[in-house]
Amino acid sequence: MPFFFELLEKKIGLSRVGRITLSNEKKKVISTPNIVVPFQNVLMHNFNFLKEFETQDTFLISQDKYLEDDIIREKYGDRGFFYVHSGTLDKFEDILNKKGNFFSQNSVIPIIPFNIPTTTINKEFAVSEVKNFLTSVNKILRNNPTLDFGLSIKVFDYYQLIDLYLPIIKDNDNVKILNFVDLFDNLRNFRNIVKAIVQIKQQLDNNLTLMASGKIIPNLYPMLVYLGIDLIDSSYLQYLSSENFYDALEQLLPIYKMKYLPCSCVACRGKLKDLLNDKYSSEKIILLCLHNFISAKIYINKIKQYLIYEDYRAFVEKASLDNMNVISMLKLLDREYFEDLQYETPVFQENKVINCLGASSYYRPDFREFRERAIKYFTPEPTTKLIILLPCSAKKPYSESKSHRQFFKAIRKFPDFPSFQEIILTSPLGAIPRQFENLYPVNSYDISVTGEWDNEEKTITANMLTSLLEKYDKNIPIICHLEGEYIEIAKKVERRLSHTFHYSDIHERITSKESLQSLESLIRAQKDIYVLSKEGSELEYITKTWHRKFIRTLDYQYGVGAGLKVLPNELKLRKNRTNTRIEIVDNKTRELLGVYKHSSGFIELSIKGAIRLSPFSSLTKIIIFNGEKIKGNTLFRPGIMDYSSELYPRDNVIILDQHKKNVIGVGNMIVSSNFIRNSMTGRVAKIYERDK
Ligand SMILES: [Zn+2]
Repeated sequence: MPFFFELLEKKIGLSRVGRITLSNEKKKVISTPNIVVPFQNVLMHNFNFLKEFETQDTFLISQDKYLEDDIIREKYGDRGFFYVHSGTLDKFEDILNKKGNFFSQNSVIPIIPFNIPTTTINKEFAVSEVKNFLTSVNKILRNNPTLDFGLSIKVFDYYQLIDLYLPIIKDNDNVKILNFVDLFDNLRNFRNIVKAIVQIKQQLDNNLTLMASGKIIPNLYPMLVYLGIDLIDSSYLQYLSSENFYDALEQLLPIYKMKYLPCSCVACRGKLKDLLNDKYSSEKIILLCLHNFISAKIYINKIKQYLIYEDYRAFVEKASLDNMNVISMLKLLDREYFEDLQYETPVFQENKVINCLGASSYYRPDFREFRERAIKYFTPEPTTKLIILLPCSAKKPYSESKSHRQFFKAIRKFPDFPSFQEIILTSPLGAIPRQFENLYPVNSYDISVTGEWDNEEKTITANMLTSLLEKYDKNIPIICHLEGEYIEIAKKVERRLSHTFHYSDIHERITSKESLQSLESLIRAQKDIYVLSKEGSELEYITKTWHRKFIRTLDYQYGVGAGLKVLPNELKLRKNRTNTRIEIVDNKTRELLGVYKHSSGFIELSIKGAIRLSPFSSLTKIIIFNGEKIKGNTLFRPGIMDYSSELYPRDNVIILDQHKKNVIGVGNMIVSSNFIRNSMTGRVAKIYERDK
């Protein structure tokens, strides 16, 4: 069976970058996400259309006359084709019998159709229709074991019907594509749509290709991709064109209203503008159709660009503003499906500016993941005797900003400053212990700053600060060097806790000489109030800022205690020339324990560093390999015997041999534990060091 979907990279939400290989010999490869363009009379006879779609990967054949070797093989041999039949299942079976060889020889994937003449039916009737359909489908799948199929899934607005499809999909591994033919037709049912998609992701092989068909308008594309749809059938545009709609990306506009064509495609800069008011022109419809397909192609290209190279989440947020139901869908996903999306979302992105657009960004899954991990895994250093709260800065990391350099002048005057815990307040991430300032997304978010916070922002920050401060002895004084609404947040938290809060006097600016002097004298007055426990005062405390950061970073990655296990001794740090990475070397044993990367703020442990985390039984980031040695740089699904249940995309992971004794490799996850559980094939982790 030549059809093969490969997940290349997981992206935020359920989105993913993949590729479909359709045949062994011909190297037909479709990159996903992608649109599928109808291969039809009107378009195929249009010179401009053919030219525009010269490089299009995927077409949908719906007219039987195109099922001919000479057309498909000779002219379009390197493209991907799907075949949908518009008639009955019986007729479809006839065609399969006649054309079976054509499909397999040309790698044209037939999609089993589900056509019934009426769309409004009651539930009972819908259930019996689906059951009948699936009985026939089962027969077709079994009778053609060597052919790969797409399966049409129709729910008639009764979303629970999805359950009826699952067993057949699980039982027949020649089902490769799930084609949702009406799932997205009625977006007001966004709750049910999201539920259905999440269910599919949780219960079925994640290597199944998901395709969305039906009444799909282009402004829905970004959300479809965010929901993990790999292929979008764009055929509906043909109907919309015949109904005189012009795709302006954000909206569909009726052509009679168009005065300024916001596009310079071959149709728009050509004759279309002269025909705008010609009510019955068939030439206008063809040109409109041409424009609509070109603009859909441009939009999917833009989506791919943002998905792979930029922060796709901000793109989805912006695009959601064009469609009220999409706004609701995104909110719902953020609020109620975080536990599912958490497993699907990479723990970091590299070298990207993460723009927070406002309330729509507050509960992004990567932001929520950061807050959760920080609260769960940040533990007080045993030598802390004073806590200092500071405002954030626009420049990241905060330490490199002008304001924080000024703060340091006051704070670092005291030789015992490593026993002060700095916490930075910010929106919308919350409260950031200084040790986490280099971690994604703290290192790369940006937000418009006016000094005014909305209630939600205040609540997020106050709650996170409360959770962090609750970890500290109530006798440790808290100094607030804050102004404006930051003070309001601190006061809110003060009322909840029994710690004593002290506020510095701000004169003019928070960085003015007088303000900093006030901070300094507050520190002097408070720093020795709290007497460290015997245990704490006897500890040889770690004074080096980077060492403190690395310890807490490893805790963030591997759980509480991991940092001290790996880095108990003094370190030697080797920065590379471009200052993008730091090699972490144990000064005593001379072992290279790991490499810190500035782009993500994460540490890639070396095997020597990973060994220090034993015993491994309690760790949440391990994979047990079913052998003694890993070959190559990629770990594939079949090589996995067991795995932790909390592996997220891009997590640093330790690979143990089958006896769970030896570390045989270290790598970074490509997928999550959810993918491993559901799938039998595919890439799982990139290995950067392995035992030889
Ligand atoms: Zn155009």
